[in-house]
Amino acid sequence: MTTAVKIENLTKIYGSRSATDKAKKMLEAGKTKEEIVKQTGATVGVHNANIEINQGETFVIMGLSGSGKSTMLRMINRLIEPTAGKISIFGEPVTGTSKDKLRQIRREKVSMVFQNFALFPHKTILENTEFGLEIQGVGKAERQKAAEKALENSGLLTFKDQYPNQLSGGMQQRVGLARALANDPEILLMDEAFSALDPLIRRDMQDELVELQEKLNKTIVFITHDLDEALRIGDRIALMKDGEVVQVGTGEEILTNPANDYVERFIENVDRSKVLTAEHAMEKPKFLLNVERQGARMALRRMEEEDYTFLMVINNKRELLGYVRGTDVAAYVKKNRNQEQLSVASLIRTDQPVVAPDTSINEIYDVMGNANMPISVVDEGGHLLGMVSSKMVINSLATDTDEDNNNNEETVNATHTAEEEVTNA
Ligand code: ADP
Ligand code: MG
Repeated sequence: MTTAVKIENLTKIYGSRSATDKAKKMLEAGKTKEEIVKQTGATVGVHNANIEINQGETFVIMGLSGSGKSTMLRMINRLIEPTAGKISIFGEPVTGTSKDKLRQIRREKVSMVFQNFALFPHKTILENTEFGLEIQGVGKAERQKAAEKALENSGLLTFKDQYPNQLSGGMQQRVGLARALANDPEILLMDEAFSALDPLIRRDMQDELVELQEKLNKTIVFITHDLDEALRIGDRIALMKDGEVVQVGTGEEILTNPANDYVERFIENVDRSKVLTAEHAMEKPKFLLNVERQGARMALRRMEEEDYTFLMVINNKRELLGYVRGTDVAAYVKKNRNQEQLSVASLIRTDQPVVAPDTSINEIYDVMGNANMPISVVDEGGHLLGMVSSKMVINSLATDTDEDNNNNEETVNATHTAEEEVTNA
């Protein structure tokens, strides 16, 4: 494994020379950040950090506000000058190197992604994507090529000649991310890049980043104060407190084996149940049968096509009514061959296992043991939210927040005409 970023005994103290010297001595004597600022006026930003970030990993630095995350990140490319310690990038020293060399590293190896993904309204999507390269002085042809490549990676190339207002808010954000990636740095530094986004778009961007990362295999150092986000995107996570790194590990290691009380409290504070519940393990069912709009022949055809042995049944309000079995529907259709409209209403079974969205994965395990079909996740109003299979439970335990795929559900409306076709055939 190649080390992309190596951080050794790194310290940053903010303050005058004399205050910093005093603060250093106090740190050595084991004084706290609070005592130090009181006595000297100097603030400990980062204290004696040691981290190795591997090439190709998404490394998350997490911690409360003021814990030293930004200071740490900005020391990696020396936007902030360290007080003590060493940093190297792919084996090359960043600390103690010449200004020229540093400039080269910033241009070729490391790039900083800022929070603002806003686009220029009067530039096209392509021009917007080129912009970062343009201000670096990259020539037109070269930057256009790079921008097109970045848009292609994000599946946005078809929009390149459109203007931002022709795209949804979420898509615009994705263009912003493509712009950040267009200069193709080996290491990306992202400081709370998604924190200002509204929650749904934020989730999209997290997914987008994970997807892009699978393709691009960059080294990403991502800062967040949000555990959910850290677990979703991070291969490993470093947790900081008062300038110190208190634990480094995978999300699972940190959740199951918090290094100390602080980590434990941090995890509890962020509502651990949110991480491992039915809601997080469930998937949207691939096909639902709306009993008010779709009949037995549609059901049968669908089950044959998808090789399902049963279908979940809902009504127009998306309330879960139960399920129908393939064998029941087949026999029914055969028996009533001559009838045009055939409803599955009389065939609905109701012994399906059901849980609430906030049911913990542990409880679902118990339910699963007795069930021979996926478990339905239903809200208080009886609406079907999703399905959890044993595979999904295991996945969610392995990765903590394996996200459901929101795009694979066929809408009831779209299949309505198909039902008419089948009926009329
Ligand atoms: P985070 O990004 O985790 O919120 P920061 O790295 O911004 O934390 O800050 C770490 C500590 O350093 C905080 O106590 C903060 O007040 C202090 N700090 C940050 N920047 C400066 C600065 N330019 N001058 C003095 N203190 C600073
Ligand atoms: Mg910060």
